Amino acid sequence: MRCHYIYDKETWNVHIPGCWGGAIYGPTHCTCRSRPPQTFNEFEKQEYRENLKELSKQIRELESENSRLNRIIRKLLKIR
Ligand SMILES: [Zn+2]
Repeated sequence: MRCHYIYDKETWNVHIPGCWGGAIYGPTHCTCRSRPPQTFNEFEKQEYRENLKELSKQIRELESENSRLNRIIRKLLKIR
C-alpha cells in the first residue's frame, strides 16, 4: 500500500501513510515507489481528473448506445 488520502466526514482529508517517510515526516517526505500526490489539493485534483475521465468515457459509451438504439428504432419504424 502506498501513501494516499481518504475523505473523512469531520476532518475531510486524512493522509494514510504507506511508507516510513510518509508515516514519520508526513506526505511531503513520501518515498513510495510510484509517487503519490504531495498535498491534499493535488490529490483532490487527481481524483477529479480521474472521475472526469471515467464520466467522459461513460458519456461516449452512452452516446454510442443511443445511436445504435436510434438506428434500431428507425429500422423498426420503416418495417411497419
Ligand atoms: Zn509514501
